[in-house]
Amino acid sequence: MGKSSKDKRDAYYRLAKEQGWRARSAYKLLQLDEEFNLFEGVTRVVDLCAAPGSWSQVLSRVLIKGEKFGRAGLEHKQSRENAIIYNPEQANNESDPLSKPAPRTDVKIVSIDLQPMSPLEGITTLRADITHPSTIPLLLRALDPETYDPASSSGSHPVDLVISDGAPDVTGLHDLDIYVQSQLLWAALNLALCVLKPGGKFVAKIFRGKDVDVLFAQLKTVFRSVKVGKPRSSRASSVEAFVVCEGFCPPEGFKASLENPLGTEKTLSSKAAEEIEKEPRGQARTLRPDGITELDLGSDAQEDNRWVAPFLACGDLSAYDADATYHLPEGWQSLDPVQPPTAPPYKKALEMRRAAGGAYGKTTKG
Ligand code: SAM
Repeated sequence: MGKSSKDKRDAYYRLAKEQGWRARSAYKLLQLDEEFNLFEGVTRVVDLCAAPGSWSQVLSRVLIKGEKFGRAGLEHKQSRENAIIYNPEQANNESDPLSKPAPRTDVKIVSIDLQPMSPLEGITTLRADITHPSTIPLLLRALDPETYDPASSSGSHPVDLVISDGAPDVTGLHDLDIYVQSQLLWAALNLALCVLKPGGKFVAKIFRGKDVDVLFAQLKTVFRSVKVGKPRSSRASSVEAFVVCEGFCPPEGFKASLENPLGTEKTLSSKAAEEIEKEPRGQARTLRPDGITELDLGSDAQEDNRWVAPFLACGDLSAYDADATYHLPEGWQSLDPVQPPTAPPYKKALEMRRAAGGAYGKTTKG
């Protein structure tokens, strides 16, 4: 698909280029914030699977520069095609005391990805695998370079918010993609459990597969509130959604680690069992010995009793529809992406092709 055609079919792709975001995902985080007020009182954040960095850009602009994008102080402007878009210039009007940018103090943001990420002002970036146990000391050191103690593997100041937009390279094999994505999500959750402060929040991309309720049940054991948000910028046709967990309340004595991840800790298992016992009779959930919660969905009656996380559509209804195609005016000039991929998986293939002298190599050129 050419750039212009993609501009038509994906309003958020086009908007991201116009408004300086590295990826269209920025709008997903902004729309989740609109609904859940994610950044209220937040100064310490970990952004997992962060490349190319549009979520980190949002964090930088909201927390470090103090810009406002959410409902409070959000101004809209009519775009060329009559849809409503965010207008940060208006929302951060210096002369209006109510909408003036309000930078926060002592902000710490650490972003991690397997891929290299171009630097962003005020953000510590780490190139690491979130599924690998060696990432946790790296993260703790980056959060508190002065106070990090490698002996106890702890830092002194935990974080307010962990966000994860992790996604594997999609294969198109639905079940496999959902499985690999769920592994990333568990890794993100376990990292979050290692660094979150009580009361902290965790937001992560999920693919809504058939066993997603098992995940919600586990999350409910360590967070007061678990909801699912579907931003307007996320295509309705996609199984993608975001789990928004608030009020981190670890069981007493619970200590998370990547070597001993969620689901294998005794304390967490017993906490899960307590939570499930509290639920109404007839609940179809049971607890396996390894601490994983299972849903028995054998009958309709049981299905009626399932605990389902509240599902919320996020983002102004007048905002662009991610599934719609929009008309572009005559003479439309398509912009280049703000941040071309730094190390795309196809880079090596391109290099090999170039080395071979073109698409089919020298021998096929006649
Ligand atoms: N939130 C990002 C943004 O706004 O620019 C977009 C994230 S992109 C959808 C998914 C990212 O997950 C990719 O950059 C990929 O490298 C990263 N990722 C996948 N598996 C990972 C892993 N095991 N550890 C760290 N990052 C991973």
